[in-house]
Amino acid sequence: MSLRIAVVNGDGIGPEVIPEAQKILEHFLPDADFYEVELGLAKWERSGSACSPDDIRELKGADAILFGAVTTPPDPNYRSVLLQIRHELDLYANLRPIRPLRSSGQGSPADMMIVRENTEGLYSGIEEIGEERSTTLRVVTKAGSKRIAEKACSLILERNSKSPLVIGYKGNVLKSDLLFRDTCSEVAASFGIQTKAVFIDALCLDVLQHPKNYDVIVTTNMFGDILSDVCGYLTGGLGMLPSANIGDTHAFFEPVHGSAPDIAGKGIANPVAAIRSAAMMLEYFGMKREACLVEESIADLINSGVCTPDLGGCESTSSFGNRLLAAVCKKE
Ligand code: ATP
Ligand code: MG
Repeated sequence: MSLRIAVVNGDGIGPEVIPEAQKILEHFLPDADFYEVELGLAKWERSGSACSPDDIRELKGADAILFGAVTTPPDPNYRSVLLQIRHELDLYANLRPIRPLRSSGQGSPADMMIVRENTEGLYSGIEEIGEERSTTLRVVTKAGSKRIAEKACSLILERNSKSPLVIGYKGNVLKSDLLFRDTCSEVAASFGIQTKAVFIDALCLDVLQHPKNYDVIVTTNMFGDILSDVCGYLTGGLGMLPSANIGDTHAFFEPVHGSAPDIAGKGIANPVAAIRSAAMMLEYFGMKREACLVEESIADLINSGVCTPDLGGCESTSSFGNRLLAAVCKKE
């Protein structure tokens, strides 16, 4: 049976970058069935719903989902589409590889994987909003910490890494993080893997100063979000960072950046983050060689100056996508 791939273009620059990523998938998966699911702010403004139960059913029917970005307005009546999907599809592991593609001229580049818990922490959605006092409950569970730690440990084994599992936490202030740290350490011990627990604030600085010291970092929801944006500095900006959201039965691939309304409609958005997310999907389907080919072709182009304005180049979103597809075909 052919693969079924749901495509969500979304808002802002989503509809500009996602077609470029879809082109690459269509090239390597010519028999796959691609179908569009409309979600996001534009749909909410039109129909009053940004993501309906029918949409969730459509997403659940896919073997994998390629997702652009949706704009989340600061309206208390608007329920975040991403949170809803992560929850409904139980996409508990957010994987964010940090691997700069630009040659720095300083030997092998950094290569790390941030494994962010995706369903609890500060994003549990338990909030009380008031005029004088608002609270957001931060939830850490043993079961939630255990499954994300297991994911991180299997990645260490897959990557053949000799490095310890780094746990990003803030247990001196947030006691809930002691449960996270201790559960991660227990799981790692059962895999025969060493751990190193580091306070998240110190970690944000140290990954920038000594990126090559890091391999797999596991952390809670919001810390992982911030840490991976920080690491954007190592990769040439938000336009370069891909991610995967994986559960036990569903998989969802999206660029780390948001809908960037400030540059939407201009044809200048960098499609690399979206295309690398598609490459992560290929890897998820067991097509590691194809995924590497895409990564290498992107690196070749960027290192020879073919890139969008955010990286100092003059390619448009679609001209970069077209040149990449040509480069991939040539390399095969
Ligand atoms: P959202 O609320 O949807 O997250 P945002 O305004 O926070 O939107 P982001 O997408 O998070 O925007 O990006 C922050 C900034 O980084 C943008 O204003 C944009 O200038 C830049 N940026 C993000 N993604 C890209 C990209 N793919 N190419 C070029 N620039 C980008
Ligand atoms: Mg943003």
